[in-house]
Amino acid sequence: MRIWEPEYECMSRDELAQVQFERLQSTLNRVYRNVAFYRKQFNAINFEPGDMNDLSELEALPFTQSQDISDAYPYDLFAVPLREVVRVHSSSGATAKPIVVGYTRQDLRSWSQLVARVLTAGGVTADDVIQVTLNYGLLTGGLGIHYGAERIGASVLPTSVGRTDRQVKIMQDYRTTALVATPSYALVIADRMEKMGINPRTLSLKFALLAGEPWTEAMRKDMEERLYVKATDNYGLSEIMGPGVSGECLCQAGMHLNEDHFIAEVVDPATGERLEPGKVGELIITTITKEAFPLVRYRTGDRCSLDYSPCACGRTLARMGRVLGRTDEVLIIKGVNIVPSRVGDILEEVQGKRPAYQLLVEREKNLDKLTVLVEVSEDLFFDKMREQRALVDTLRKEVADGIGITPRMLLVEPGTIRREEETTPGVLDRRRFASQPYPDGGSCALGDPSYPASGLEGPQRKR
Ligand SMILES: [Zn+2]
Repeated sequence: MRIWEPEYECMSRDELAQVQFERLQSTLNRVYRNVAFYRKQFNAINFEPGDMNDLSELEALPFTQSQDISDAYPYDLFAVPLREVVRVHSSSGATAKPIVVGYTRQDLRSWSQLVARVLTAGGVTADDVIQVTLNYGLLTGGLGIHYGAERIGASVLPTSVGRTDRQVKIMQDYRTTALVATPSYALVIADRMEKMGINPRTLSLKFALLAGEPWTEAMRKDMEERLYVKATDNYGLSEIMGPGVSGECLCQAGMHLNEDHFIAEVVDPATGERLEPGKVGELIITTITKEAFPLVRYRTGDRCSLDYSPCACGRTLARMGRVLGRTDEVLIIKGVNIVPSRVGDILEEVQGKRPAYQLLVEREKNLDKLTVLVEVSEDLFFDKMREQRALVDTLRKEVADGIGITPRMLLVEPGTIRREEETTPGVLDRRRFASQPYPDGGSCALGDPSYPASGLEGPQRKR
């Protein structure tokens, strides 16, 4: 098995701890000097970065929350002047204000180097033709993978997301050997291939590197059989860097975390206390090489565990277990993070008062579907068809602008939203039932919802 930077990926744990300590110290010094937010936080607990003697002292520092990043919109957490920033990415969704992150030239070099590591771990070499079906744009996925793949010397097909027929055609004609996708989109491609009568064994595809949303071991098995590939899991988030934070090797036993660039901890999300290796809790990451946008003890909101035992591949970097979900109310729909109450805020802005509403999330043909149910007054529901239509259009547009994906809007009679089935307040996520066991053709143990619908957006019942 190839290893991109064995001098780091296979270093002894003692050496690694030394590298981490030196890099952490310099990061803390830098944020203390250059970022008002951290200066204030450190002063509040009388912490001077220069006094640090040991890696374990990190545990005493306060967390950085996603709200802190949102409050710093757009540039207040940057640790370098803008003239040193050569790239900016941003992601919308989780909070009212988008998260904006910046990269210096050196940050971009490290980024492509770390993506090269995880792609190599997933089987990609200079001989591969790699098709990147992640979003190219302000989100970090597409461009992040792109430069790492170029660094390896693979031939990159930047197809971005969507137009599945064309993706399949390109895969066939250009002899793609490695596919980068979200797990659900990889399954959409598999479905389309079946529909087009293409046998995956006649393609050149060998590897699928998947990222962007939680998935299951059963989905992996399904994908490997249907696409005839070896599928590996990857993890990244824009706040920390994008893709390249951690990635699985071909042993498929957890994602190697690039610990010489990121210090990971797992804590009890309720108490904030650090947990033993192997225990599931919230992943906390401190960046120790980033120049433009360093973060100290960032609460990722992702639930997982860490495994420090040696891996058969030879890497000594700890392995992150599968992300098992979120610690907060964030919903991941089509790879986009959404806070349900944000939808309530938008509905309230449009209508003047907060209506009763519910987010219904389903998975149909491996694609996430979001329906927003909104209770409206009886006279509007029964008598005012034209007003209803106008309201649906406005709500759909405003919600789409606010959260980054277009939902189906459904107006319903007062008192019809059923709270008892909700998976979290305001949310009915049916995907978790549909995902086990897999594949199940989307059938659902709870039966179909039977809300009386106004019918404006068509029947919501699954056929
Ligand atoms: Zn390994």
